[in-house]
Amino acid sequence: MKVFKNKSIDIGQFEEGILSGDRIILAKAITLIESSLIADQHQAEELIEKLLPKTGNSIRLGITGVPGVGKSTFIETLGLYLTSLKKKIAVLAVDPSSIKTKGSILGDKTRMDELAKHPLAFIRPSSTGGSLGGVAHATREVILLCEAAGFDVIIIETVGVGQSEITVREMTDFFLLLILAGGGDELQGIKKGIMEMADGFVITKVDSENVKPALIAQANYQQALHLFNPSESGWMPEVLTTSAFTKKGIPEVWTMIQKFESVTKATGFFDEQRTQQDIFSFHHGVDEAVRNFVTDKSKNLLTALEQKVKSKQLSPRIAARMVLTKIQEMKS
Ligand code: GDP
Repeated sequence: MKVFKNKSIDIGQFEEGILSGDRIILAKAITLIESSLIADQHQAEELIEKLLPKTGNSIRLGITGVPGVGKSTFIETLGLYLTSLKKKIAVLAVDPSSIKTKGSILGDKTRMDELAKHPLAFIRPSSTGGSLGGVAHATREVILLCEAAGFDVIIIETVGVGQSEITVREMTDFFLLLILAGGGDELQGIKKGIMEMADGFVITKVDSENVKPALIAQANYQQALHLFNPSESGWMPEVLTTSAFTKKGIPEVWTMIQKFESVTKATGFFDEQRTQQDIFSFHHGVDEAVRNFVTDKSKNLLTALEQKVKSKQLSPRIAARMVLTKIQEMKS
């Protein structure tokens, strides 16, 4: 396989390489998307535009759960099961901790080792620094690249903290929450909002002495779900039990996802949700562009006004309005 230096790849080569499933070119294109250089960003935009008609043909699967719940072991086991069905799997990550450390939840090479080596799988750590918004924006575009490269299932992993779950929910078709069956009140510690976002629940590590508490937890979750209002999607979330060690329950997870896809495609929700996500992403992009523009154009003014807000000379709202007024003056 030919190895290109980034500079020598033009848009046509990127396009051709991605459409033929060349993962070296795919990885280079992802680097281009994650780049903060203006020239790279323009090239990335042009590439996405060219590939857009070839996107959309995957199921986008969001997976979350607290650290230690068994996410990476589960994703590897599910991924290997899917490759046994000849599905092409991409695993991406949105990881808020990587923003601080510039590391990544997928950065540890020992994670998902077997899946990483599989010819039908592609695993990409999220290595973008910057804001969660920036990572989210890049990940949305990476999903499109992976779809153009022919991946059937795209898994976006996130750790169960902060805003990242909402971010991943907003870019995926099916959102899966992994949970542990504890001894006490199973529902404690999981925010109701996260439960309401999930299309499916998987109790992990259901092997040996965990089996009995898991069945109790399953019944509790099923009961709790009945208290929620029926969803507009026509889909009723399911609670399954799995063990990544014994592989029990793994095929059932895939059956659930396929059922979701056929139910929500029939009701029209599947396509509607994707359209809403695109519109949301557009608005988010506008917000970000405006913020960048303002920061770029009026750095000194922002610093000066921030000082006045700090010393209580100005209210935050008035200070914000003054920025807008100043920019309007600059334009006229
Ligand atoms: P993550 O932090 O959510 O990605 O969790 P990991 O996949 O790294 O797993 C955390 C720990 O749980 C590891 O020690 C795994 O070996 C263990 N584990 C993962 N899946 C299973 C399982 O199905 N059964 C049992 N008994 N342990 C598991």
